[in-house]
Amino acid sequence: MQVTRRQFFKLTAGGMAGSTIAALGFTPGQALADVRAYKLQRATETRNNCPYCSVGCGVLMYSLGDGAKNAIPSIYHIEGDPDHPVSRGSLCPKGAGLVDFIHSANRLKYPEYRAPGSDKWQRISWHDALTRIAGLMKADRDANFIEKNTDGVTVNRWLTTGFLAASASSNETGILTQKVTRSLGILALDAQARVCHAPTVSALATTFGRGGMTNTWVDIRNADFILVMGGNAAEAHPVGFKWAIEAKRTRGARLVVVDPRFNRTAAVADLYVPIRAGSDIAFLGGVINWLIANDKIQWEYVKSYTNASLIVGDGYSFDDGLFSGFDAGHGKYDRSGWQYALDENGQARRDPSLQDPRCVWNLMKAHYSRYTPEVVSNITGTPKDAFLQVCAMLGATSARDKVGTILYALGWTQHTTGTQNIRTMAMIQLLLGNIGMPGGGVNALRGHSNIQGLSDLGLLSTSLPGYLVLPTDKQTDYATYISQSTPKPVQAGQLNYWGNTPKFFVSLMKWFWGDNATAANNWGFDWLPKWDKSYDVLQAMELMHQGKMNGYICQGFNPIAAFPDKNKTVASLSKLKFLVTIDPLATETAAFWQNHGEQNDVDTASIRTEVFRLPSTCFAEEDGAIVNSSRWLQWHWKGANPPGEARPDQEIMAELFVALRELYRKDGGKAPEPILNLAWPYRDPLNPTPEELAKEMNGRALADIPDPKNPGQFLAKKGEQIPGFAALQDDGSTMCACWIFAGSWTQAGNQMARRDNADTGLGNTPGWAWAWPANRRILYNRASCDPAGKPWDPARQLIKWNGEKWVGADVPDFKIDEAPDTAMSPFIMNNEGVGRLFAVDKMADGPFPEHYEPMESPIGTNPLHPKVVSSPAVRLFADDRARMGVHTDFPYVGTTYRLTEHFLFWTKNSRLNAIMQPEQFVEIGEALAKEKGISQGDTVKLSSKRGFIKAKAVVTRRIKALQVNGQTVHQIGIPLHWGFEGATQKGFITNTLAPFVGDVNTQTPEYKSFLVNLEKA
Ligand code: SF4
Repeated sequence: MQVTRRQFFKLTAGGMAGSTIAALGFTPGQALADVRAYKLQRATETRNNCPYCSVGCGVLMYSLGDGAKNAIPSIYHIEGDPDHPVSRGSLCPKGAGLVDFIHSANRLKYPEYRAPGSDKWQRISWHDALTRIAGLMKADRDANFIEKNTDGVTVNRWLTTGFLAASASSNETGILTQKVTRSLGILALDAQARVCHAPTVSALATTFGRGGMTNTWVDIRNADFILVMGGNAAEAHPVGFKWAIEAKRTRGARLVVVDPRFNRTAAVADLYVPIRAGSDIAFLGGVINWLIANDKIQWEYVKSYTNASLIVGDGYSFDDGLFSGFDAGHGKYDRSGWQYALDENGQARRDPSLQDPRCVWNLMKAHYSRYTPEVVSNITGTPKDAFLQVCAMLGATSARDKVGTILYALGWTQHTTGTQNIRTMAMIQLLLGNIGMPGGGVNALRGHSNIQGLSDLGLLSTSLPGYLVLPTDKQTDYATYISQSTPKPVQAGQLNYWGNTPKFFVSLMKWFWGDNATAANNWGFDWLPKWDKSYDVLQAMELMHQGKMNGYICQGFNPIAAFPDKNKTVASLSKLKFLVTIDPLATETAAFWQNHGEQNDVDTASIRTEVFRLPSTCFAEEDGAIVNSSRWLQWHWKGANPPGEARPDQEIMAELFVALRELYRKDGGKAPEPILNLAWPYRDPLNPTPEELAKEMNGRALADIPDPKNPGQFLAKKGEQIPGFAALQDDGSTMCACWIFAGSWTQAGNQMARRDNADTGLGNTPGWAWAWPANRRILYNRASCDPAGKPWDPARQLIKWNGEKWVGADVPDFKIDEAPDTAMSPFIMNNEGVGRLFAVDKMADGPFPEHYEPMESPIGTNPLHPKVVSSPAVRLFADDRARMGVHTDFPYVGTTYRLTEHFLFWTKNSRLNAIMQPEQFVEIGEALAKEKGISQGDTVKLSSKRGFIKAKAVVTRRIKALQVNGQTVHQIGIPLHWGFEGATQKGFITNTLAPFVGDVNTQTPEYKSFLVNLEKA
């Protein structure tokens, strides 16, 4: 009798000894004699990074095929890279399932086309697809391009075709996308950052000077106290979160979670504190009030390194929910009064004693005095004693030798008050002296693997690379733009690094238009599109919905799943003339015209949109760099060829651009100059290499660049890669596509490919990859020392002044030879040199964060100021106002999130992840389930004013009802990951429910708090 190996083990596991089986007549000799060769014996190992989240874990990919001419490599095993300083060999369930992503049955292999009204795909050649797309684009651009606005200003913008940029593709794809789209005049250019972390950039850059996560994943281990609020790091960033556990294990750090749900992070926390979704500013404003009232302030830090002592001008006030300058007719603030009082030299006046009633300190103190513990508890539903416990733990980190950190993600960003949620915490960390400190900071846990990179590269409607801002149509000429974009110091002796803006901008223009950008034509300033308003994704969809957009190109993006109000998104796409998707996987967006019953109930025949579905490579099939949340640019290598005819994104972008350029060359057309003059110096114009593009991002000398400190010497000779951004010039003698990446590929080679994981102290590994800016790992690290240059905490010595210069384990974030006794302060990007408690005029909704209710409020009032319930400066389109629900019809708070086993809408295509989380569900608290007669596993229908989804009910104790303003508020948790494509069971698109309204400052949609109704289906 023969048995298989599997049957044999099943039998022995059943309790029978092998001898007994033999005695019964079984003879499994063949199975027992099997000897398997070592799985990786003949494999080729290639280093790469997990493409899902921003932890950026290292992976080793193993392929067969030895590189011989006719051998085709295929990846058959992936494991964690043990050398990687963050992941150290770990992978979460998503990373562990990467082989299934590469070989997913839903990988696209050939370009496909859907004709207007058709119900099927048909195969098409690359040439035919790209020729047709280029023709459609040119026809639309020529018909709708705006060369001058009604004031006669040259604006060169094309608003009727939009572009969504991929957030997991490499920097090299990103920068080429920037070059092509801007040369065409596209303003409706956006990336995933718009729907995730845009508020992070706006909040952190306003407060500290740069918009990135301040510290690093590994540095979390140096914290004494870790607050996780507005995020769920154990679930969404599992491998990065291990450094929080390391802090607990090695130094007894306390971990506190404040969240609407008792989530997976809470499961390992020392304290879990519930909160109502959308009430974070009330909580954090209460913390500020408590810290001031209880004197838990790092006073020397606050007085020296923040704007507490600066005096605010008379134009600023706050009264009953409104800041000064509100224009009710337009729903906007005039921010001109939110300024410092200046002296006769244009410098901000100061009162170091903090006695002046108009100094920032006293205005802030008065503003938050309303946020008493009772008020906090009433608005948030958080029990008062739990709130006070958090205050006490945070307050303890005001000591010089105690440091606390905050880990947050989309639980803060995705609100109409998203930017201000983060601002409030940034202010708290300044008050506690925790910025610049090892173990401290405000740690924005970015989502996608390269959304940090895409933000850095300016793939957002009004941005340019390196956080330069695209000119507006009010900046009618180059001189006006430069003067308005270059801040002047408002405190003497400050570095004011943005003062170098002309050097960054001119070098960027030399990258765009090469020799055609000259001083005589203002470096091609006219060729850039000028904006009149933000064409963010909500605005683009609104225009599409109004029939004012004709074309849309989605590169690695699935908007019908990712944008709010899915039914509106589908209706909008249905009005397009053409839609192009570029993706490794089949997406719902590409198939938006298909009827999938209740899950996508459309009339296919009436949808006249032409759709092109173009297959691209995935991470494993390309070289390039992605930027993790800690701002590390990590280079990765190709391990296999893509399936079928799939192509790298750069190749697709290049071929499309070259086809368009040929059309303009041959046939002429509207405003051809920015296209025909674009620098395209690539060896193969149809396929720029990642190396060529990466070198352009670093920047190159176009002439010899003299070293001002050493006459006769040069910072770089003509043709050389520049060593760093300090070498950039504003006279056209340097080119650089992204000034903050300068230093990443120097004459010494590709710094992003470095793999030295030696620890230089406190877990710093400066020899691993390369971090912007200047390979600095912890931002604002000058503030880890006291004004005299000595570390506040000798046990956390990161840098210090050695009498001649700043030295230490990290690259100092300061002028290297600037002695501590000068006036220069640590926040070198800010024109005051200090951290901003008062945001001056940088925020659209007030210099101090204020609690406003979500647009759909479960209590229908604002207990702080009932006349101003939600943010008065919110942008809400007329049709969407009619699609907002009220709490009497939709009484429960819905909040969306993701799960460890899935990454948004990709991993549902990967078999392993589909097995782990196969079916859509929602989480309902026990009390609500009882009230509604819903049992575990029932199918329920969840509706908002915009549509409904159906899912299985998970009845849980993890979500408890809260008492808010005298009423009971139930919250419902809604994971995101399902749709009508993929290897999981089919499901509804969760964002059918979310409202079409965004953060006041950045328009990131309010996915985290909206109103729903619940019934048993
Ligand atoms: S999803 Fe994030 S935590 Fe998980 S393996 Fe990938 S990079 Fe690491």
